[in-house]
Amino acid sequence: MRAEIISVGDELLRGYTVNTNTAYLAKNLADLGYDVNFQTVVGDCEKDIFDAIRIAVTRSHVIVFTGGLGPTEDDMTKEVVAKALGLKLVYDQPTAEKLEKQLAQRGIEPTGAPMKQAYVIDGCMVLRNDNGTAPGILLQKGNQVIVLLPGPPRELEPMFQNGVKPFLMSFSDVCCESATIRVVGLGEPTVEQSLGELLYGVNPHAALYVNTGEVLVRVFARGTDQEEARRLCREHVEKIKAVLGSYVYGEGDRDLAETVVELLKEKKLHLATAESCTGGLVAAKVTAVAGSSAVFDYGVACYADWVKKHALSVGSSVVKKYTTVSSPCAGEMAKGALSAGKADIAVGITGIAGPGSGDYGDGHFPVGLVFIGVADKKKVVVKKFTFGDL
Ligand code: AMP
Ligand code: MG
Repeated sequence: MRAEIISVGDELLRGYTVNTNTAYLAKNLADLGYDVNFQTVVGDCEKDIFDAIRIAVTRSHVIVFTGGLGPTEDDMTKEVVAKALGLKLVYDQPTAEKLEKQLAQRGIEPTGAPMKQAYVIDGCMVLRNDNGTAPGILLQKGNQVIVLLPGPPRELEPMFQNGVKPFLMSFSDVCCESATIRVVGLGEPTVEQSLGELLYGVNPHAALYVNTGEVLVRVFARGTDQEEARRLCREHVEKIKAVLGSYVYGEGDRDLAETVVELLKEKKLHLATAESCTGGLVAAKVTAVAGSSAVFDYGVACYADWVKKHALSVGSSVVKKYTTVSSPCAGEMAKGALSAGKADIAVGITGIAGPGSGDYGDGHFPVGLVFIGVADKKKVVVKKFTFGDL
Protein backbone atom coordinates (compact mmCIF):
# COMPACT_ATOMS: atom_id res chain seq x y z
CA MET A 1 0.00 0.00 0.00
CA ARG A 2 1.18 3.47 -0.87
CA ALA A 3 1.84 6.01 1.85
CA GLU A 4 2.88 9.63 1.88
CA ILE A 5 3.85 12.15 4.50
CA ILE A 6 3.01 15.85 4.44
CA SER A 7 4.77 18.08 6.96
CA VAL A 8 3.36 21.52 7.61
CA GLY A 9 5.34 24.45 8.95
CA ASP A 10 7.16 27.56 7.77
CA GLU A 11 10.02 26.68 10.13
CA LEU A 12 10.61 23.44 8.18
CA LEU A 13 10.59 25.17 4.79
CA ARG A 14 13.08 27.76 5.96
CA GLY A 15 15.41 25.21 7.52
CA TYR A 16 15.09 26.36 11.12
CA THR A 17 13.60 23.06 12.24
CA VAL A 18 15.00 19.78 10.98
CA ASN A 19 12.21 17.58 9.70
CA THR A 20 12.79 14.66 12.04
CA ASN A 21 9.09 13.75 12.08
CA THR A 22 9.20 12.72 8.44
CA ALA A 23 12.21 10.49 9.00
CA TYR A 24 10.53 8.93 12.02
CA LEU A 25 7.24 8.35 10.21
CA ALA A 26 8.89 7.06 7.04
CA LYS A 27 10.86 4.44 8.96
CA ASN A 28 7.84 3.35 10.94
CA LEU A 29 5.55 3.19 7.91
CA ALA A 30 8.14 1.16 6.00
CA ASP A 31 8.44 -1.22 8.96
CA LEU A 32 4.69 -1.72 8.79
CA GLY A 33 4.99 -2.73 5.15
CA TYR A 34 3.84 0.52 3.52
CA ASP A 35 5.65 1.92 0.49
CA VAL A 36 6.39 5.55 1.28
CA ASN A 37 6.32 7.17 -2.15
CA PHE A 38 6.16 10.86 -1.39
CA GLN A 39 7.29 13.27 1.30
CA THR A 40 6.09 16.82 1.03
CA VAL A 41 6.82 19.93 3.08
CA VAL A 42 4.46 22.88 2.89
CA GLY A 43 4.40 26.15 4.80
CA ASP A 44 1.62 27.45 7.02
CA CYS A 45 -0.31 28.44 3.94
CA GLU A 46 -3.91 27.50 3.25
CA LYS A 47 -3.59 27.13 -0.52
CA ASP A 48 -0.47 24.97 -0.32
CA ILE A 49 -1.91 22.64 2.32
CA PHE A 50 -5.10 22.41 0.27
CA ASP A 51 -3.19 21.51 -2.91
CA ALA A 52 -1.05 18.97 -1.04
CA ILE A 53 -4.06 17.03 0.28
CA ARG A 54 -5.92 17.20 -3.05
CA ILE A 55 -2.93 15.65 -4.83
CA ALA A 56 -2.25 13.12 -2.07
CA VAL A 57 -5.74 11.63 -2.16
CA THR A 58 -5.31 10.84 -5.84
CA ARG A 59 -2.26 8.64 -5.29
CA SER A 60 -1.88 7.30 -1.73
CA HIS A 61 -3.71 4.91 0.56
CA VAL A 62 -2.24 6.38 3.70
CA ILE A 63 -1.57 10.11 4.12
CA VAL A 64 0.07 11.32 7.31
CA PHE A 65 0.21 15.02 8.16
CA THR A 66 2.45 16.46 10.85
CA GLY A 67 2.22 19.93 12.37
CA GLY A 68 -0.27 22.76 12.39
CA LEU A 69 -2.71 21.34 14.94
CA GLY A 70 -1.98 23.87 17.68
CA PRO A 71 -4.01 26.83 18.94
CA THR A 72 -2.34 29.64 17.02
CA GLU A 73 -3.53 31.51 13.95
CA ASP A 74 -1.06 29.76 11.66
CA ASP A 75 -2.16 26.27 12.79
CA MET A 76 -4.71 25.33 10.15
CA THR A 77 -4.02 21.77 9.03
CA LYS A 78 -7.29 20.21 10.21
CA GLU A 79 -9.40 23.13 8.95
CA VAL A 80 -7.87 22.94 5.47
CA VAL A 81 -7.92 19.14 5.29
CA ALA A 82 -11.60 19.11 6.31
CA LYS A 83 -12.40 21.74 3.68
CA ALA A 84 -10.51 19.87 0.94
CA LEU A 85 -12.38 16.65 1.78
CA GLY A 86 -15.75 18.38 2.06
CA LEU A 87 -16.08 17.51 5.76
CA LYS A 88 -17.17 19.54 8.77
CA LEU A 89 -15.35 20.24 12.00
CA VAL A 90 -17.25 19.16 15.09
CA TYR A 91 -16.80 19.99 18.76
CA ASP A 92 -15.50 16.95 20.63
CA GLN A 93 -16.78 17.03 24.19
CA PRO A 94 -14.24 14.64 25.82
CA THR A 95 -11.38 16.54 24.17
CA ALA A 96 -12.88 19.85 25.33
CA GLU A 97 -13.14 18.63 28.92
CA LYS A 98 -9.55 17.41 28.96
CA LEU A 99 -8.43 20.68 27.41
CA GLU A 100 -10.28 22.74 30.01
CA LYS A 101 -8.53 20.85 32.79
CA GLN A 102 -5.11 21.32 31.16
CA LEU A 103 -5.73 25.03 30.64
CA ALA A 104 -6.99 25.49 34.22
CA GLN A 105 -3.75 23.92 35.52
CA ARG A 106 -1.82 26.56 33.63
CA GLY A 107 -4.16 29.37 34.67
CA ILE A 108 -5.43 29.94 31.11
CA GLU A 109 -9.07 30.86 30.37
CA PRO A 110 -10.81 28.01 28.48
CA THR A 111 -12.10 30.28 25.74
CA GLY A 112 -10.97 31.54 22.34
CA ALA A 113 -7.90 30.24 20.52
CA PRO A 114 -6.89 27.38 22.85
CA MET A 115 -10.38 25.86 22.60
CA LYS A 116 -9.90 25.63 18.82
CA GLN A 117 -8.14 22.39 19.68
CA ALA A 118 -11.41 20.82 20.85
CA TYR A 119 -12.67 20.66 17.25
CA VAL A 120 -12.02 17.51 15.20
CA ILE A 121 -13.00 16.33 11.73
CA ASP A 122 -16.48 14.82 11.57
CA GLY A 123 -16.40 11.00 11.62
CA CYS A 124 -12.78 10.72 12.70
CA MET A 125 -11.15 8.70 15.44
CA VAL A 126 -9.63 11.11 17.98
CA LEU A 127 -6.06 10.29 18.97
CA ARG A 128 -5.28 11.09 22.58
CA ASN A 129 -2.32 13.39 23.19
CA ASP A 130 -0.58 12.37 26.42
CA ASN A 131 2.13 15.00 26.11
CA GLY A 132 0.34 18.09 24.91
CA THR A 133 -3.00 19.69 24.22
CA ALA A 134 -3.73 19.16 20.50
CA PRO A 135 -5.40 15.81 19.80
CA GLY A 136 -4.51 13.85 16.68
CA ILE A 137 -7.05 12.82 14.06
CA LEU A 138 -7.43 9.55 12.16
CA LEU A 139 -9.92 9.42 9.36
CA GLN A 140 -10.81 6.39 7.27
CA LYS A 141 -12.54 6.93 3.94
CA GLY A 142 -12.96 3.64 2.09
CA ASN A 143 -9.55 2.24 1.33
CA GLN A 144 -7.81 5.46 2.38
CA VAL A 145 -6.61 6.67 5.75
CA ILE A 146 -5.72 10.25 6.58
CA VAL A 147 -3.89 10.93 9.81
CA LEU A 148 -3.17 14.33 11.35
CA LEU A 149 -0.47 14.44 14.01
CA PRO A 150 0.93 17.32 16.08
CA GLY A 151 4.37 18.77 15.24
CA PRO A 152 6.37 18.34 18.46
CA PRO A 153 8.14 14.96 18.24
CA ARG A 154 7.48 14.17 21.90
CA GLU A 155 3.77 14.40 21.18
CA LEU A 156 3.82 12.81 17.72
CA GLU A 157 5.91 9.73 18.51
CA PRO A 158 3.83 8.26 21.35
CA MET A 159 0.66 9.13 19.44
CA PHE A 160 1.93 7.24 16.42
CA GLN A 161 2.98 4.21 18.49
CA ASN A 162 -0.18 4.00 20.61
CA GLY A 163 -2.89 5.24 18.28
CA VAL A 164 -1.80 5.07 14.65
CA LYS A 165 0.42 2.02 14.46
CA PRO A 166 -2.13 -0.49 15.84
CA PHE A 167 -4.67 0.82 13.31
CA LEU A 168 -2.27 0.70 10.36
CA MET A 169 -1.11 -2.80 11.24
CA SER A 170 -4.58 -4.16 10.59
CA PHE A 171 -5.25 -1.78 7.68
CA SER A 172 -2.29 -3.05 5.65
CA ASP A 173 -2.91 -6.05 3.42
CA VAL A 174 0.52 -7.59 4.01
CA CYS A 175 2.32 -8.84 7.06
CA CYS A 176 5.93 -7.91 7.43
CA GLU A 177 8.84 -8.31 9.76
CA SER A 178 12.10 -6.39 9.92
CA ALA A 179 15.40 -6.64 11.74
CA THR A 180 18.58 -4.62 12.06
CA ILE A 181 21.97 -6.29 12.23
CA ARG A 182 24.72 -4.06 13.66
CA VAL A 183 28.24 -4.41 12.30
CA VAL A 184 31.43 -2.82 13.57
CA GLY A 185 34.98 -3.02 12.24
CA LEU A 186 34.14 -3.39 8.55
CA GLY A 187 33.49 -0.57 6.09
CA GLU A 188 30.36 -0.44 3.94
CA PRO A 189 32.07 -1.59 0.70
CA THR A 190 33.52 -4.63 2.46
CA VAL A 191 30.18 -5.54 3.98
CA GLU A 192 28.54 -5.13 0.59
CA GLN A 193 31.12 -7.30 -1.11
CA SER A 194 30.93 -10.01 1.55
CA LEU A 195 27.15 -10.20 1.48
CA GLY A 196 26.89 -10.25 -2.34
CA GLU A 197 23.53 -11.64 -3.39
CA LEU A 198 22.14 -11.58 0.13
CA LEU A 199 21.65 -7.85 -0.43
CA TYR A 200 19.02 -5.98 -2.40
CA GLY A 201 16.70 -8.92 -3.08
CA VAL A 202 12.97 -8.36 -3.28
CA ASN A 203 11.63 -10.57 -0.52
CA PRO A 204 13.43 -10.77 1.82
CA HIS A 205 15.07 -7.45 1.16
CA ALA A 206 18.34 -6.39 2.82
CA ALA A 207 20.08 -3.04 2.51
CA LEU A 208 23.00 -1.24 4.13
CA TYR A 209 22.89 1.97 6.16
CA VAL A 210 26.00 3.68 7.44
CA ASN A 211 26.02 5.15 10.92
CA THR A 212 29.02 6.86 12.54
CA GLY A 213 31.49 4.05 13.18
CA GLU A 214 29.23 1.21 12.15
CA VAL A 215 27.24 -0.35 9.35
CA LEU A 216 23.64 -1.43 9.78
CA VAL A 217 22.12 -4.20 7.68
CA ARG A 218 18.34 -3.79 7.58
CA VAL A 219 16.41 -6.90 6.67
CA PHE A 220 12.79 -6.71 5.66
CA ALA A 221 10.44 -9.56 4.74
CA ARG A 222 6.79 -9.77 3.74
CA GLY A 223 4.54 -12.77 4.14
CA THR A 224 0.94 -13.81 3.76
CA ASP A 225 0.82 -14.06 7.53
CA GLN A 226 3.03 -12.84 10.36
CA GLU A 227 4.51 -16.28 10.89
CA GLU A 228 5.74 -16.49 7.30
CA ALA A 229 7.15 -12.94 7.40
CA ARG A 230 8.98 -13.69 10.64
CA ARG A 231 10.40 -16.96 9.33
CA LEU A 232 11.68 -15.38 6.09
CA CYS A 233 13.23 -12.50 8.01
CA ARG A 234 14.91 -14.70 10.63
CA GLU A 235 16.33 -17.09 8.01
CA HIS A 236 17.85 -14.19 6.13
CA VAL A 237 19.26 -12.61 9.30
CA GLU A 238 20.96 -15.90 10.21
CA LYS A 239 22.52 -16.19 6.73
CA ILE A 240 23.89 -12.66 6.97
CA LYS A 241 25.21 -13.18 10.48
CA ALA A 242 26.95 -16.37 9.38
CA VAL A 243 28.83 -14.46 6.65
CA LEU A 244 29.80 -11.48 8.82
CA GLY A 245 30.75 -13.57 11.86
CA SER A 246 32.20 -11.72 14.83
CA TYR A 247 31.92 -8.35 13.10
CA VAL A 248 28.24 -8.49 14.10
CA TYR A 249 28.00 -7.04 17.59
CA GLY A 250 24.26 -6.99 18.00
CA GLU A 251 20.77 -6.75 16.62
CA GLY A 252 18.01 -4.19 17.05
CA ASP A 253 18.20 -0.76 18.62
CA ARG A 254 20.97 -1.31 21.16
CA ASP A 255 24.05 0.62 19.98
CA LEU A 256 27.73 -0.16 20.47
CA ALA A 257 28.15 1.73 23.76
CA GLU A 258 25.02 0.15 25.22
CA THR A 259 26.20 -3.27 24.12
CA VAL A 260 29.61 -2.73 25.74
CA VAL A 261 28.03 -1.58 29.03
CA GLU A 262 25.67 -4.56 28.98
CA LEU A 263 28.56 -6.99 28.40
CA LEU A 264 30.60 -5.43 31.19
CA LYS A 265 27.63 -5.75 33.55
CA GLU A 266 27.08 -9.36 32.53
CA LYS A 267 30.72 -10.24 33.11
CA LYS A 268 30.94 -8.04 36.23
CA LEU A 269 33.94 -6.13 34.88
CA HIS A 270 34.97 -2.51 35.40
CA LEU A 271 36.34 -0.53 32.48
CA ALA A 272 38.87 2.33 32.53
CA THR A 273 39.93 4.52 29.62
CA ALA A 274 42.99 6.57 28.75
CA GLU A 275 42.44 8.67 25.67
CA SER A 276 44.84 10.93 23.87
CA CYS A 277 43.61 11.70 20.35
CA THR A 278 39.95 10.99 21.18
CA GLY A 279 40.09 13.38 24.15
CA GLY A 280 37.49 11.49 26.18
CA LEU A 281 35.06 10.51 23.41
CA VAL A 282 35.02 6.85 24.41
CA ALA A 283 34.40 7.73 28.06
CA ALA A 284 31.63 10.11 26.98
CA LYS A 285 29.94 7.40 24.92
CA VAL A 286 30.12 4.91 27.76
CA THR A 287 28.94 7.32 30.45
CA ALA A 288 26.03 8.44 28.26
CA VAL A 289 24.54 4.98 28.76
CA ALA A 290 22.12 4.84 31.71
CA GLY A 291 23.52 2.64 34.44
CA SER A 292 27.14 2.81 33.23
CA SER A 293 28.33 3.90 36.69
CA ALA A 294 28.06 0.23 37.67
CA VAL A 295 30.95 -0.61 35.33
CA PHE A 296 32.89 2.59 34.69
CA ASP A 297 34.90 4.50 37.32
CA TYR A 298 37.88 6.05 35.64
CA GLY A 299 38.63 7.81 32.38
CA VAL A 300 41.42 10.23 31.61
CA ALA A 301 41.84 12.53 28.63
CA CYS A 302 45.63 12.55 28.51
CA TYR A 303 46.34 14.90 25.64
CA ALA A 304 49.71 16.17 26.81
CA ASP A 305 52.74 13.93 27.25
CA TRP A 306 53.20 14.98 30.86
CA VAL A 307 49.67 13.76 31.69
CA LYS A 308 50.48 10.39 30.16
CA LYS A 309 53.47 10.23 32.46
CA HIS A 310 51.86 11.56 35.64
CA ALA A 311 48.41 10.02 35.45
CA LEU A 312 49.32 6.78 33.74
CA SER A 313 53.01 6.24 34.48
CA VAL A 314 53.90 5.97 30.79
CA GLY A 315 57.70 5.67 30.97
CA SER A 316 59.93 8.42 29.52
CA SER A 317 62.02 5.75 27.87
CA VAL A 318 59.01 4.43 25.94
CA VAL A 319 58.14 7.92 24.72
CA LYS A 320 61.75 8.69 23.85
CA LYS A 321 62.27 5.48 21.95
CA TYR A 322 58.90 5.10 20.19
CA THR A 323 57.11 8.54 20.59
CA THR A 324 53.62 8.77 22.03
CA VAL A 325 51.99 7.77 18.76
CA SER A 326 53.13 4.19 18.96
CA SER A 327 52.03 0.74 19.86
CA PRO A 328 54.14 0.56 23.06
CA CYS A 329 52.70 3.89 24.26
CA ALA A 330 49.09 2.72 23.68
CA GLY A 331 49.92 -0.45 25.64
CA GLU A 332 51.46 1.54 28.51
CA MET A 333 48.45 3.86 28.58
CA ALA A 334 46.06 0.91 28.83
CA LYS A 335 48.16 -0.64 31.62
CA GLY A 336 48.34 2.72 33.40
CA ALA A 337 44.56 3.19 33.24
CA LEU A 338 44.04 -0.37 34.46
CA SER A 339 46.05 0.26 37.56
CA ALA A 340 45.14 3.92 38.25
CA GLY A 341 41.46 3.15 37.63
CA LYS A 342 41.48 -0.10 39.65
CA ALA A 343 39.75 -1.66 36.66
CA ASP A 344 39.46 -5.18 35.23
CA ILE A 345 39.90 -4.05 31.65
CA ALA A 346 41.28 -0.83 30.23
CA VAL A 347 41.65 0.88 26.87
CA GLY A 348 44.47 3.21 25.80
CA ILE A 349 44.10 5.24 22.62
CA THR A 350 46.77 7.35 20.96
CA GLY A 351 47.00 8.65 17.44
CA ILE A 352 46.81 11.55 15.04
CA ALA A 353 43.28 12.87 14.76
CA GLY A 354 44.04 15.79 12.43
CA PRO A 355 42.99 18.05 10.89
CA GLY A 356 46.10 19.47 9.37
CA SER A 357 49.49 17.93 9.23
CA GLY A 358 50.48 14.87 11.12
CA ASP A 359 53.85 16.34 12.07
CA TYR A 360 54.42 15.55 15.68
CA GLY A 361 57.58 15.64 17.75
CA ASP A 362 60.38 14.18 15.73
CA GLY A 363 58.31 12.36 13.23
CA HIS A 364 55.66 12.63 10.56
CA PHE A 365 52.58 10.49 11.03
CA PRO A 366 49.67 10.16 8.65
CA VAL A 367 46.45 11.69 9.93
CA GLY A 368 44.20 8.81 10.96
CA LEU A 369 46.99 6.66 12.37
CA VAL A 370 45.70 5.33 15.69
CA PHE A 371 46.95 2.72 18.15
CA ILE A 372 44.42 1.14 20.48
CA GLY A 373 45.66 -0.89 23.42
CA VAL A 374 43.52 -3.12 25.60
CA ALA A 375 44.83 -4.43 28.90
CA ASP A 376 43.51 -6.75 31.53
CA LYS A 377 45.34 -8.18 34.51
CA LYS A 378 47.00 -10.88 32.38
CA LYS A 379 47.93 -9.29 29.08
CA VAL A 380 48.06 -6.28 26.82
CA VAL A 381 47.05 -6.28 23.17
CA VAL A 382 47.61 -3.33 20.83
CA LYS A 383 46.22 -2.89 17.34
CA LYS A 384 47.21 -0.35 14.75
CA PHE A 385 44.54 1.35 12.64
CA THR A 386 44.65 3.86 9.82
CA PHE A 387 41.28 5.57 9.82
CA GLY A 388 40.37 7.80 6.95
CA ASP A 389 37.88 8.53 4.23
CA LEU A 390 38.44 5.30 2.38
P1 AMP B 1 3.15 22.88 15.15
O1 AMP B 1 2.37 21.69 15.57
O2 AMP B 1 3.16 23.09 13.69
O3 AMP B 1 2.75 24.12 15.89
O4 AMP B 1 4.67 22.57 15.55
C1 AMP B 1 5.12 22.78 16.85
C2 AMP B 1 6.60 22.54 16.95
O5 AMP B 1 6.90 21.18 16.65
C3 AMP B 1 7.48 23.31 15.96
O6 AMP B 1 7.78 24.59 16.40
C4 AMP B 1 8.71 22.45 15.84
O7 AMP B 1 9.59 22.71 16.92
C5 AMP B 1 8.14 21.05 16.00
N1 AMP B 1 7.94 20.43 14.70
C6 AMP B 1 6.95 20.70 13.83
N2 AMP B 1 7.06 19.94 12.72
C7 AMP B 1 8.16 19.18 12.89
C8 AMP B 1 8.81 18.20 12.08
N3 AMP B 1 8.33 17.85 10.88
N4 AMP B 1 9.94 17.61 12.56
C9 AMP B 1 10.40 17.97 13.78
N5 AMP B 1 9.84 18.88 14.59
C10 AMP B 1 8.72 19.49 14.15
MG1 MG C 1 3.38 25.15 12.95
